[in-house]
Order: sequence, then C-alpha cells, then structure tokens
Amino acid sequence: METSIIDKYRNTADGQEAEAILRSCVHCGFCTATCPTYQLLGDERDGPRGRIYLVKQLLEGQPATARTLTHLDRCLSGRSCETTCPSGVNYARLADIGRTLMQQQVAYPPVEQLKRWLMRKIIPYPARFSALLALAGLAKPLLPAASKRKLPQISTARPWVDSTHARRFLVLEGCVQKAVTPSVNAATAQVLDRLGIRLERTPGGVCCGAVSYHNGQREEGYDFMRRNIDAWWSGLQQGVEGIIVSASGCGLMVKEYGEVLKHDPEYAEKAAFISAHTRDLSELIAGEGLARLAIDPAGEKIAFHAPCTLQHGQRLPGVVEGILQRLGFVLTPIQDAHLCCGSAGSYSLLQPELSTRLRDNKIAHIEAGGPTIIATANIGCQMHLATGTGLRVVHWIELLADRLGD
Ligand code: SF4
Ligand code: SF4
Repeated sequence: METSIIDKYRNTADGQEAEAILRSCVHCGFCTATCPTYQLLGDERDGPRGRIYLVKQLLEGQPATARTLTHLDRCLSGRSCETTCPSGVNYARLADIGRTLMQQQVAYPPVEQLKRWLMRKIIPYPARFSALLALAGLAKPLLPAASKRKLPQISTARPWVDSTHARRFLVLEGCVQKAVTPSVNAATAQVLDRLGIRLERTPGGVCCGAVSYHNGQREEGYDFMRRNIDAWWSGLQQGVEGIIVSASGCGLMVKEYGEVLKHDPEYAEKAAFISAHTRDLSELIAGEGLARLAIDPAGEKIAFHAPCTLQHGQRLPGVVEGILQRLGFVLTPIQDAHLCCGSAGSYSLLQPELSTRLRDNKIAHIEAGGPTIIATANIGCQMHLATGTGLRVVHWIELLADRLGD
C-alpha cells in the first residue's frame, strides 16, 4: 500500500514502524472475512482492512475523530485477521500505534475516562481487585440478577507443591488470575511436579502490563514490564530454564516484552532474553512424557475454547487440544472456533454490548457439541464464558490436576 506519512510522524519510531506495516498490506480484504466485529456490524471500518485505512489516514494528516477512535476501540485485538492475512501484516502492532495516537487527539467523555482510570488502577493489583470482589460479594443480595451473574466465582486455593527437582521454571502469577482462580498456578505446579519440574513463585512479580499498555498508557505498561524483568532476572542467571505463563493473554504480552522495550537502553537486552525464554504452559507440557501423569479422563466430554491470544497471538493452535486428546479426553466440536468469545482483556468492560453478543454466539456453538465441561486457557475467557452458561468453566490444567493418578 502506498503511503504519504506527514513529517510529524515520519521521523518518530512509531511513525516509521507504522509505515512499514502499512506498506506490507496489499488491501486484499481476506482478513475481513474472519473478523468478529465485521461479522457482527457489517461495516468496513469495523474490520481490519478498514481500521488499517483509518490509521493510514491519521498518519497522512487527517485528524482523528471520536468516530474513528470508536472503530479502533471496537477491535478485540484477538488477531484472527493476522492468522488469515497472506501478507503477514502485523495488524495488532499497527492498531496499538493508531489507538495511542488517536487518543492523543481525541478525549474520551469524562465518564469513560473515569471508567478506564479505575480499570487501570484496580485490575492489575490483586489486593485491590480482591477487595473489590469482596465488596461486590457483600452487596450481591442487593444486586439485580444480571449483575449477580457477572460476579466471578472465586476458586478455592490449592496447596503449592514445593518440589526439589533440578529442572526449574519461574511462574508469572498474574493479577486477575491470582485473585479469582488462585488454584490455577498451584495446579500447574502440581502437574509439573509429576513431570519432574519445579515451578517457583516470583516475589516481586506483578501484572504483565497488558491492561495499561493496550489501553494507551504505555509508560505505565513499561513500568510493570520492567518490574517483572527485575523480579525474574536473578533466577534466570541461576539455572532457571524459563518463565511459564498459564494465562495465554499474559503469556503473549511477556513474549512481546523484547519487541515493546526494544528502544529502552537499560532493558532492551534483558527484555529480549525474557521473551525468548517465556513459554505458554501448553508448550512445556506437550513436550513431556504424559504417561507419568497417569490421568483417568473418566469419559469426560470437554469443549476446549482456544483463546485468541493462544491460537492467533502466540500461534499455538491445537497444542492444548493435542495434550487433552493424548490423555484420553473426548473433545467436542466447536463451530467457528477461530472466533473471539468477546472477553479480550478489558473489552468486556469497555464494549459490553458487542462482548455479550460474541459470548452468546460462542456459548451456543460450544453447547451444541454437548460437552460436560468447558476448558480454556486464559482467565479473561474463563470468567467471561462462565457468565453465559450453566456449565462449569475451568482452566485446562485444573482438569489434569484433578485427575492425577497415583
Ligand atoms: S491485512 Fe492482510 S489480509 Fe487484510 S487487507 Fe491487508 S494484506 Fe489483505
Ligand atoms: S484483531 Fe480481531 S477484531 Fe480486531 S480487526 Fe483483527 S480480527 Fe477484527
């Protein structure tokens, strides 16, 4: 695609990166067919090709408006379009740059600004988020039925297996997952212990930074990233093999630390090293001898919902499904499994109507397969799906931990 970037942007790192991405797009529109927001709204500007064009116009000097920012904000950042694109266009990066530049020109209404500020000041901090959940729990009897259904079910914590194996990994404990499903990383430690791997917690570890970074607050996001790098660094110098992340959205962010911090003179090298040594939990487990787990699947019929951050972002389609099938679980089919469930990080809070429509479509496709339980790989998807179904929704590692044999 030809571009004519104005001087204001041409000499900036963002402008140059965006121009290179724009030039890689041939405007073919293949991506539009797999875009969930285009499917719902039928407007070119609510699909990837249209959004790419809106960012191009901005970089060529056309002022952003509240309308153009809305089209960018409706994007789920699930990257289904990147999987479809034959030209390898780095759409997500372009959208991040475009959204940040548009937010510099267009102010959100005060209520929206407050909502976004509260979100950034509460969600990434497990103690604050837990306190909010506790308050909501107290108020639950007074809430309308629709609000009650949105309150997440807090899972019971499991004891952490403190093994002594020579193979060691550190874990990103995360923020929302730590508050809502503290059992997930403990289940991870339990399963890895059976595979001869010790999983270590990381004092000083914080939110991966995605909540701030993807909502236009880059410096705040960088701060979270640097704090995690500092927390992990000494372990990685002392024989730890790498970082394991059980929430695919957070894992994708950590895998991008190297790219995101490449201009930081102090952290660029460390960030690249961390990203190269970060693995989704499924990547690690898929390479191990699963017979050691002695799992009895007990005929359970599982619907595995693959988060966008796992299948499109981390490009790991079919890995969890392969593990579950090797262990003898029966996987039920899901129509349009490539489409987003509508969770998408903070999207369900910021775009509730679209998010609910996508969730309902996803649940209908999942339930049509007749599963007895829904498994997924990201806390956001887990919480979001649970608000729309009577079926139990779990992280897939909990299925394994609950069925470990002797
Ligand atoms: S992003 Fe890829 S698929 Fe979409 S219009 Fe551009 S080249 Fe075509
Ligand atoms: S990231 Fe998802 S919602 Fe956004 S343009 Fe791509 S396919 Fe559409």
